[in-house]
Amino acid sequence: MKLAGILSIPTWLENYCELNVPFILMSRFPYHEPYISRIEHKIRSSFSYIVNDDFLGEYMAAAHLIRQGYRDLYLVLGSTDKSNAEGIMNLTRMDGFKKALSDHSIPYSESHILSGINEEKTGQAGFFSGKKRPSIPGRGFPFAGPRVILVLSQDKERNKMDHELMSRAIAFHGHRCPGLAIGVRAALEAKRILEIGEAEPKGIYCVAEQMACFIDAIQVILGCTAGKGSLIYRPTGKCVFSFFNTNNGKAVRMAKLDNDAGLDKEEAIRFILNQPLEQVFSLSSPTIPAPAYAPRGAAMACALCGERTAENMLRVKDGKPVCLECAGLI
Ligand SMILES: [Zn+2]
Ligand SMILES: [Zn+2]
Repeated sequence: MKLAGILSIPTWLENYCELNVPFILMSRFPYHEPYISRIEHKIRSSFSYIVNDDFLGEYMAAAHLIRQGYRDLYLVLGSTDKSNAEGIMNLTRMDGFKKALSDHSIPYSESHILSGINEEKTGQAGFFSGKKRPSIPGRGFPFAGPRVILVLSQDKERNKMDHELMSRAIAFHGHRCPGLAIGVRAALEAKRILEIGEAEPKGIYCVAEQMACFIDAIQVILGCTAGKGSLIYRPTGKCVFSFFNTNNGKAVRMAKLDNDAGLDKEEAIRFILNQPLEQVFSLSSPTIPAPAYAPRGAAMACALCGERTAENMLRVKDGKPVCLECAGLI
């Protein structure tokens, strides 16, 4: 039989360099800088090839998971030996992974790359001889079977806490929505930044500049309520919150950013709850002074309608105290 040609997905690219038949190389080609220069001299220039973009593929996979709210990602690879094609492919994937992390402001850690993992002929996960069994800190090596390319995990405690707080907020608000998630995240971060203790609802104020779903989460989680006068409405129509802890003088202004625009409802909720704070809110010092404690003042009857009205809301009309309605001001 005469061999007309080869369509190949080679593991070891170099093994095919000397073959003298028509050849289409599929799937692997060490095309990506900076690795190409190290191996191009070994590759026959007449090769036709169909390639995966390993860099972009890994980048897209990791970025997708990050957008879903997963931040604690581990990359599991086979060989990362620069002297062979598979190693170069894996290094290229690693570069895509690192780029996705850095583009999303997630610090890269060597311990999140589990390399040297390979399949044995049985299809079970195996390891290059002489290599220590890789493990995820505190979790061991959580997978077996055929090679796993990308493994993700997440901080369960953090998610559990968010879940509980969201549930409490939903119970009060009536439905689950991104607006509520904004309030949950803002209240949680305010607690942290303003060093608000669990049993310290007094002296905590929130000035909110828009009345929407998030207000309910802030009332539930932070204990700043409209009824107590510690949730103050400043109608600018902006999704902006200024939080004040008058016990220690700490304060922060959070302005919601638009980075979750275009995400669907659940994606937006995950984004708001899990992304780094600076991607969800722009933080600064409040532009308004801390609210002062305003005890409910005395009240008296309006001279026209007779309804009891807080004194600071009464106006004088024809020499008599009248309510805003009777004064024609509302
Ligand atoms: Zn809502
Ligand atoms: Zn009146």
